[in-house]
Amino acid sequence: MPPIPQAVSVGVGDAASRLLEGARRASIWNGEAPIPVELITESLLGLAIEWAPLVGREAGTIILGAVDAEARVVYLNENERLLFQRTIGLERFTIGHELGHFELHATPGRAGEEITPCGIGDVARREVEAEAFSACLLMPEELVRQHTHGTNTALWPRVYSLRETFGVSATAMTYRLRNLGYRTPERFRTDAR
Ligand SMILES: [Zn+2]
Repeated sequence: MPPIPQAVSVGVGDAASRLLEGARRASIWNGEAPIPVELITESLLGLAIEWAPLVGREAGTIILGAVDAEARVVYLNENERLLFQRTIGLERFTIGHELGHFELHATPGRAGEEITPCGIGDVARREVEAEAFSACLLMPEELVRQHTHGTNTALWPRVYSLRETFGVSATAMTYRLRNLGYRTPERFRTDAR
């Protein structure tokens, strides 16, 4: 996951905020962390979440998920179940990523739209936007500011505690903190997301 340029994340952040507002109005979300991303997907947007074997176009790319906007299904890659099990928060982040495509890139009611499997580290613009959307959805700025108030985010125990609070991976949490202008631990541990 590359650092997300601010220019990309502004409009994307607005879209994530609108979805969260909708969840709040529908009493699906109480305004606290963690964000109930599965409930937002299924109950608010009416998308099913299913496991299925997904294969990418290029060999060697790790595919995590895909979205079929027409059939209203978010797919998680069954072939990567071990990776999902090993990486806390990866499943939630992948669902958020696919919601990003659904909210930002899908054309409602258009049949036959190509379903593109989403791989790790894809730097195509729509992939970067979907990553940013997921980060903004799962780690809303206001809540991050609330939970980091008066604490030193350059310490790993603090990042791990925030990771627990938001239900994301340490990598996702670290990128989000950086993009919001916080200090993060020097040695950047990386996991899938
Ligand atoms: Zn994607």
